[in-house]
Amino acid sequence: MATAHTFDENLVAATHHLARFADAPLGHFINGEMVPSRSGSTFENRSPIDGSVMGEVAAGDADDIARAADAAAEAFRVWSNMAGTERKRILHNVADLIVDRRHEIAVTECMDTGQTMRFMSAAALRGADNFRFFADRAPQANDGLSLPSADHVNYTTRHPLGPVGVITPWNTPFMLSTWKIAPALAAGCAVVHKPAEWSPYTAHLLAEIALEAGLPAGVLNTVHGVGESAGKSLTENPKIKAIAFVGESSTGSMIQAQGAPTLKRVHFELGGKNPVIVFDDADLERAVDAAVFMIYSLNGERCTSSSRLLVQDSIYDEFTGRLAEKMKNIPVGHPLDPGSVVGPLIHPRHHGKVLSYLDIAEADGATVVRGTPWSDAPAGGCWVAPALFTGAHTEMRVAQEEIFGPVLTAIPFSDEADAIRIANDVEYGLAGYLWTGEVGRAHRVAHALEAGMIWVNSQNVRHLPTPFGGTKASGIGRDGGDWSFDFYMETKNIAIALDTHSIPKLGG
Ligand code: NAD
Repeated sequence: MATAHTFDENLVAATHHLARFADAPLGHFINGEMVPSRSGSTFENRSPIDGSVMGEVAAGDADDIARAADAAAEAFRVWSNMAGTERKRILHNVADLIVDRRHEIAVTECMDTGQTMRFMSAAALRGADNFRFFADRAPQANDGLSLPSADHVNYTTRHPLGPVGVITPWNTPFMLSTWKIAPALAAGCAVVHKPAEWSPYTAHLLAEIALEAGLPAGVLNTVHGVGESAGKSLTENPKIKAIAFVGESSTGSMIQAQGAPTLKRVHFELGGKNPVIVFDDADLERAVDAAVFMIYSLNGERCTSSSRLLVQDSIYDEFTGRLAEKMKNIPVGHPLDPGSVVGPLIHPRHHGKVLSYLDIAEADGATVVRGTPWSDAPAGGCWVAPALFTGAHTEMRVAQEEIFGPVLTAIPFSDEADAIRIANDVEYGLAGYLWTGEVGRAHRVAHALEAGMIWVNSQNVRHLPTPFGGTKASGIGRDGGDWSFDFYMETKNIAIALDTHSIPKLGG
């Protein structure tokens, strides 16, 4: 959704809203207050646009995590005992304040991540939707089932787990944080949030908004810092009962090991290498637009991006040709310019990684078709033009590895069986997109794809009651609807005898 603001208005707003982060180091948000790290350490937050320092941020460690976990444990006693209707009211207040501050959130997110305004303005509002969706379900979160037997009345109840940890990545950080934090709060849990060190700002806005909305102090705490210190300590803290994590598969595996000694419950939303499969009987105009959208929106830094394009060989040249034409017209530009689609990537390290795949593609024998770079791109930024790799095959690294940038690998296939074989020939299994005019084939292929979510004749269109998550190296568990509550809550069965069953008599 395009913003109603002009580029100049966005620039003025950015100067205004980011001044606070430049003026003083951003602290953690613990027990309703902004505090520095106990150690006094900070790290620099740099702009993806030109590499300049935007401000200093508190670098948390085990001490700061312990403070936040203590605050969360204390606040949990109040929050978990509050009526669901009251939690609902407060979480709706959070959503209202997100809507009120949506422009500030979107502008801050653009400057912090390099994602463009046309997507970040919608992402801010999606944050509010996430809060409203789970707020409405808060009053029923404890509800269970009635499972009577001949001699007993059995019924189940659900109880919030306790203080939980939420660890999030840097792609669309505000929206993703709300997707994990809103259900935790609606369930009655208190939260310690560790945002990604490359995009710390909007997590602070969320904590501020939550307090203003009436969330008791200590129910939502934010500790900044690098994964190896703040993140690791959060996964090891004994007061934290579960970790909801969104990030790379290799980090998920580390978190599972780190959390093992304290028996952490984990929920993982990890990487993807998602196929979009186009059969020759598909509506090609819709399919090409969806394929372009699903890889070149959000800078391609999107877990559900369709980063592998599988096209039936009879239409491969025509389809990739049409796609390349559209790709070359995609405007790369300043993230605050409402006309920009692709902005700078998040960080020099990620930028270097994405650029390296252009060479890897060529070295492996693919043809690299380049999009149009921004001629006015500021020096020192992480700018990249979109790209398409044609003539690729499934063994190539660009067909196997998650690149997480605006680059697409196009692979031909011969028939249905070949499409399924190639689609499943990766370690990931998050999402799959399928384009065909034949209903039977749509069902057959959807069943055969190894992925947690399949869209047929569609791009990724989210419906919040549906389950979100991946298989294989793409994740453990599901979010959305009641699945989120299952993770953040403990189920208890209560069996009450009707006094009709026999009780074994031992010892007389
Ligand atoms: P990352 O795994 O490097 O970092 C994610 C978070 O984990 C950060 O906050 C980081 O500080 C923290 N972390 C790092 N090491 C840690 C450790 N040892 N213990 C605890 N925390 C630690 O991921 P990223 O590069 O920030 O994000 C990109 C990745 O996220 C991609 O792989 C993408 O596919 C994935 N992602 C998945 C989904 C999904 O829903 N499946 C959604 C968005 C992003």
